[in-house]
Amino acid sequence: MVFTELNVKQFNSNQKMKETTKILHSIPVDELTGAISTPIYQTSTFVQEAPGVNKGFDYARSNNPTRKVLEDLIATLENGKKGYAFASGLAAIDAVVKLLKSGDEIVAVDDIYGGAFRMFTHIYQKFGIHVTYVDTTDVINVVNAITSNTKLIWLESPTNPTLKISDIVEISKVAKANQILLCVDNTFASPASQKPIDLGADIVIHSATKYLAGHSDIIAGLVVTATEELGEKIKFIQNASGAILGPFDSWLAIRGIETLPLRVKQHSENAQKIAAFLLTHDIVKNVYYPGLPTHKNHHIAKNQQKYFGGVVTFDLKIDNKELATLIVSNTKYFKLAESLGGLKSLICLPCEMTHKSIPSDIRYQSGITDSLIRLSVGLEDPEDLIEDLLTAINYSISTLVKTN
Ligand SMILES: *Cc1c(COP(=O)(O)O)cnc(C)c1O
Repeated sequence: MVFTELNVKQFNSNQKMKETTKILHSIPVDELTGAISTPIYQTSTFVQEAPGVNKGFDYARSNNPTRKVLEDLIATLENGKKGYAFASGLAAIDAVVKLLKSGDEIVAVDDIYGGAFRMFTHIYQKFGIHVTYVDTTDVINVVNAITSNTKLIWLESPTNPTLKISDIVEISKVAKANQILLCVDNTFASPASQKPIDLGADIVIHSATKYLAGHSDIIAGLVVTATEELGEKIKFIQNASGAILGPFDSWLAIRGIETLPLRVKQHSENAQKIAAFLLTHDIVKNVYYPGLPTHKNHHIAKNQQKYFGGVVTFDLKIDNKELATLIVSNTKYFKLAESLGGLKSLICLPCEMTHKSIPSDIRYQSGITDSLIRLSVGLEDPEDLIEDLLTAINYSISTLVKTN
């Protein structure tokens, strides 16, 4: 191929790059050595030429070159201005809440991640930050919950574990009209599928533990801001509170993100097949998956997401915890564990695991019944996964019949 001037220009233009190319080529080649893999700068401090004269790095809590590559990468991927890496998804959430002050209020999705609920309730309530939880799948509920003290709207879409979808564009209009910040926890969709900043959000957070790192091997969190100004505030909090991500875990997150679009596409294809299978099974009552036309906000998911994601949740016609426990304990490829977003499939029983601390009446109100089972569909062959579920379901029914 001959590189004409025009070709070279197109090749160099970030705008024209497709997403997968952009991810791989926005990770810089190491300037010092030409290393194609980002070096791990395992150091706590950086030698200065004279007091205050340095190469942009002085102390590794404030800044680390490996972490910076990850931070720039996630900002690029989310079409934001600034990115910051934290020790966990919860540390990322914590940094965003620290933008507020005593007396401020948050309007949050009612199906919020349990750890965020625990933080809001047991840590920030005593500092005078109040949270109102509403069903954000209807925008009117958000409008009605706003007061003059509301400073932040907190969304997850899709939610955990019932995969509720909220209309980010419509809610962002409400936020802007009231001068309220909109933060979206984009963990379940990932930026390969959904870009909340393009949809009007001010801040995006991630548990990079899940799809971004993608291999079930680290705990990490990320914050991306739509503006430089908000970025500077988060940067101050990151350095002042200190919950940074270390260089090795930053490197693992970068390595994971390199294959993100490929993985999310396949996770979603596999999940769609499993959702379709579950729908045909007699024992299954509800199948929760945004990719099903029967899902309440399927049309919104279709508009704001490129893929429907790798999490599928279902419950049973006989709402029997014993039966659900047998099923989740007897799959072979679906491993019984909390978390999601890794290469290997996981299965969990929210009522006994991720959502155990929620009183059962409140749990039932949000659809989390005793027989609700959450799947994180991995990258195994979907035929094997379907066979695995079918075998476990049949075995569990016969075992339950025999013992009763
Ligand atoms: C896991 C998760 C978190 C918390 O992230 P950690 O990395 O475990 O601290 C936050 N939000 C969502 C939606 C999650 O799934």
